[in-house]
Amino acid sequence: MTHLTEREQVQAHLARSYQPAAVSADESLQRERIKTLLKAHNATLVAHYYTEDSLQALAEETGGCVADSLEMARFGAASPSSTLVVAGVRFMGETAKMLSPDKRVLMPTLEATCSLDIGCPAPEFSAFCDAHPDRTVVVYANTSAEVKARADWVVTSAIAEDVVAHLHARGERIIWAPDKHLGRFVQSRTGADMLMWEGACIVHEEFKARGIEDMLRVYPQAAVLVHPESPQAVVDLADVAGSTSQLINAARKMTQDTLIVATDRGIFYKMQQAVPDKLLIEAPTGGNGATCRSCAHCPWMAMNSLDKLELCLEEGLGAIEVDDAIRRRALVGLERMLTFRNSL
Ligand code: SF4
Repeated sequence: MTHLTEREQVQAHLARSYQPAAVSADESLQRERIKTLLKAHNATLVAHYYTEDSLQALAEETGGCVADSLEMARFGAASPSSTLVVAGVRFMGETAKMLSPDKRVLMPTLEATCSLDIGCPAPEFSAFCDAHPDRTVVVYANTSAEVKARADWVVTSAIAEDVVAHLHARGERIIWAPDKHLGRFVQSRTGADMLMWEGACIVHEEFKARGIEDMLRVYPQAAVLVHPESPQAVVDLADVAGSTSQLINAARKMTQDTLIVATDRGIFYKMQQAVPDKLLIEAPTGGNGATCRSCAHCPWMAMNSLDKLELCLEEGLGAIEVDDAIRRRALVGLERMLTFRNSL
């Protein structure tokens, strides 16, 4: 069993602590060009927490928003703009389109998908549901429009526990898809009867308990913040486990001044704004802390860039369309979640 020397641990920490990227003169000019394009196309930019800092900054500077997938879609639907530009992954663009069917929804790239979406194809999932007709189907937002159309409820990680607890209290048995780790987390909190689809996020699955324990030996005063798409052993080390928005709020409230964070490092842009005086450290991935296989960054989120955003606005590329019959069926589960959320 390999343990890091203290020196290696400190080096690993230094490599992983968040440093805001400097903005070059070229990038400043490009941002100004994109601002002009957004205005010219009556467009609003909404960006996910996991996209690169420059996209999040641009969304903020232009009156858009930086948020989780549900808030991105809700913000987009309430926006008076006729075009929404969604910097994130494909299911986010689809959700925005489903909630704003009359708006043009563009994405900097249509190639950006999600391992959870890929790992839950609609035909197989539908057959799984058909085999268990007595169960209520609850799917995570990280799914295709077709999978959402097969669900009774759509949930985000921020509301999954509340919805499942509500269904469990009504005596309902559940099919949960696609993330098995988040499902197990929700099950442990609610005691619900949940039949799991075996999906996983390739980013969060890489976080390692051993690496975090090594880090805690160097920073014993640090708090550990974990997204529950991570494996059980990592969640077990968490001071707080929750969705992206919940982790940012927790960072604000916690007394510790050093935070080890197990989720995509894109979150550091907004988290550091929330806690400018705290030290934020990426939780180790893919090994014992000195190496980094996935670098805690989603490869699909990383496909979004200023270059692609500029091109998509200039040429109207990356338009999202959702079949109307699928949209209407998927809206049932989405609207149930929104109504439930408003009732909390
Ligand atoms: S971080 Fe994971 S869950 Fe999020 S978009 Fe990437 S692959 Fe999907």
